[in-house]
Parts: sequence; C-alpha cells; structure tokens
Amino acid sequence: VRATTTAVFEDLESEVRSYCRKFPVVFDRAKGAELYSEDGRRYIDFFCGAGTLNYGHNNDFIKRRLVDYLAADGVVHGLDMYTVAKREFLTAFNETVLRPRELDYKVQFCGPTGTDAVEAALKLARKVTGRTGLMAFTGAYHGMSRGSLGVTGSRRARRAGGISGQDVTFVPYEDGPQGTFDSIGFIERLLSDPSSGVDIPAAVIVEPMQMEGGMYPASAEWLRALRAVTERHGVLLILDEIQAGCGRTGKFFCFEHAGIVPDIVTVSKSIGGYGLPLSMTLFRRELDVWEPAEHTGTFRGNQLAFVAATAACDLWEQTKFRTDLAVAARRLERFGAEIAATEPGVEVRGRGMALGIDLAGAGGPERAHRVQRYAFDHGVIVELCGRHDEVLKILPPLIIDIARLEVGLGVVGTALRTTLY
Ligand code: PMP
Repeated sequence: VRATTTAVFEDLESEVRSYCRKFPVVFDRAKGAELYSEDGRRYIDFFCGAGTLNYGHNNDFIKRRLVDYLAADGVVHGLDMYTVAKREFLTAFNETVLRPRELDYKVQFCGPTGTDAVEAALKLARKVTGRTGLMAFTGAYHGMSRGSLGVTGSRRARRAGGISGQDVTFVPYEDGPQGTFDSIGFIERLLSDPSSGVDIPAAVIVEPMQMEGGMYPASAEWLRALRAVTERHGVLLILDEIQAGCGRTGKFFCFEHAGIVPDIVTVSKSIGGYGLPLSMTLFRRELDVWEPAEHTGTFRGNQLAFVAATAACDLWEQTKFRTDLAVAARRLERFGAEIAATEPGVEVRGRGMALGIDLAGAGGPERAHRVQRYAFDHGVIVELCGRHDEVLKILPPLIIDIARLEVGLGVVGTALRTTLY
C-alpha cells in the first residue's frame, strides 16, 4: 500500500529539510512551468529548483533524447571514462557555448553538485598560485561543504564550520543591502599596501548576480573593475555561474553582460538540462595543472545528464527558444517596473528571467513570508532570499509561455496588494 500522507517524511527525514515546510504538499508530477501535488492541485513554478529547471520540467525535446538513450541501453554510469554521451556533450558545449564566445577553456567535470565545482575551483586556484588566501563578498553563496562554506557569507550557515575562515577576506558587496561601498577601491588598498595585513589571495570568487544573497546583479562596470584589479595583482578571478548562468539573465553566462573573461568559471544546476546532476569547472588552458585523480568523485559526469545537457545545448541554438525567452524576459521586467512604481517602499532588482522584489523597506521578512504563503495558497511557488528572507525571488523557467507567466505574476501582484503591513 502506498503511503499518501506526509507521515513517513516527518518520521524519517532529518530536521535539516527546509522546503517541505514552505510548500507542505506532496508533489507527484511536473510539466513545463507547472508542478502537480498528489491531491491534484496545480502550481506554477517560479522557483525552478533554485535555478535548475531553466528548460522547465520534463521538457519534451530533452525527454525524447533521454528515453531513446535509455531504450538503447546507453552507458548510465561511466566514472570519467570516455563515452559517446560525454563526447557529444563536449562537442555541443564547445560549439554552442565556448567557441562562439571565444572562451578557450578546459572543462573539468565535478560533481554531482555545484558545491563540488566550487571546491575544485578553490583548490585549483590555490594549487596554481601556491597561495592559500581567498577573497569573497558579503552575501555570497557558494555552497555548504567546508571549503565552499568558507567563501559563503551567511553566519548561520558558517556556524557548521567552514575550514578556511581565516583564509578568507570578506569584502562588502558593492551593490548589497547596505548601499554602495567602494569594494574595488577597498580591494586595491588591501592588495597594494604591503602592510595591509592581508596576504595576496589565490583568487577572488564572485557571483555575477547574487541570488541567495537577495537578487543583486553586479553592474558591468563593477565586474570590469574587479577583473582589472585582480589582473593588476595577479589574483585569479572565479565567476560562480551556478545559479545565474545557463541563460537565466538573458545571456548564456551572466558575466557576458560585462564583457570580461574570468580565469575560472563554475557551472551547474541548469547545465544538466533536465534537473539531472552535472557540475563543471571551466578554466583557462594554462591553469590545468591538475595531476591525474587529484580531484575525483564517483558520480562526476553523470551520463544521463550529458545526454540531457547536449539536448539543452541544441535547444539553446533554436531561434524560437531565444525569441520566446526575450519576450518572457521583457514581460517580467515590465512587471518589475509596475511593482516598483505602485508599491511604496518596495525595491525591485533583476536581469533577464531573474527578478527580486525586496520588501526590506515595505514589511520585511514577515510580509515576504505572507506573500509567499498567499502565492502558494493560490497556486504559485515563490522562494525567498536575502539576509533575512526579505526578498521574493522570481525565477520562472525560461520556456514559460506568456499566458502562464501572466497568471503567476498576477498572483504575486495580488499577493503584494493584499498583504499590507
Ligand atoms: N553557487 C551558487 C551561486 C549557488 O546558487 C549554489 C546553490 N544554490 C551553489 C553554488 C551550490 O550548488 P549545489 O547546491 O548544487 O551544491
């Protein structure tokens, strides 16, 4: 007999779980921009597995390839042996993503999570430079393992013990909630002053748009200045594209808006195309100083993820996908402008299909939770982010049709209008 209640979760699953508390139903099926609970309710998904489902749930184009691959008994697990699925992905990724952008990177498969791509990036930067220090920004989110936790800002998360707390200098994020801060000038002073007390770090790690931190896009000028200051001091620049990448902000990589070339890039989440685990670290060719097996993992390079990711590269090439995406992004941007104009105290930030509605000055986290609850009760899944969960994070799948986007945004708009404070 199949259990239909939540009893087994409450009995067996660790208290560390979180999303089930925000969305207390049991989900069963999902298609495109929608999730369905087992009791038959339908939810528009503005969360997308924290940016993992850019192509939507069960995308038919990608699913076909997966089904065919499984039906043909394609290799499912291959460690890092050569496989046809990996060859097809590397070829497609090179032709669709790297070569058109003139990015001469090597690809390291990590995994299966984004965190491991960050770990590899940090380790590689330390190995290449022979230095141990790192710089990161307040509000940053890079993962929960000990190394990646070391460069994650949240005190609450860091309590569990980042290894390298002393090795990391946190720089106030330029466009963060405390207003503007001359972080580049600050970095320049620390690095150029031989008595600053801060050793020259191996790398600076940055998200091109802070997502967990509260939806703060880094400006193009700021990223260019960060590239310049790191270059001046021989410090590697790591761009964490795990959540902001794969088309989320309108370009494949979010850093493209700034026209910079990072030394190292981390990619995960939507690169797996179908919600399948895949994570990669990309780096300039001359940084490939790894010795064989120096950073391994049993599940790196998931073969099904390669198949899905190759299909996703092919989707990315389709003109219709790109034009539909541009239309949806313009609609989202217009919605953001409407909210900013009509809701006093609300600050709106966004880029492409990533929108943040900041309620810090208009009811704060308490209202944000009420908006989230209202949206959920009316069939829309919205996640919160920011220092205190004060920002509504709107991440629709890139393939969402305009009609569904309108319905979802309508609910969020009504939620804001009805949850006064
Ligand atoms: N970096 C960024 C920017 C992220 O958003 C996340 C996940 N939210 C990670 C790293 C860690 O990825 P994962 O949860 O897959 O380990």
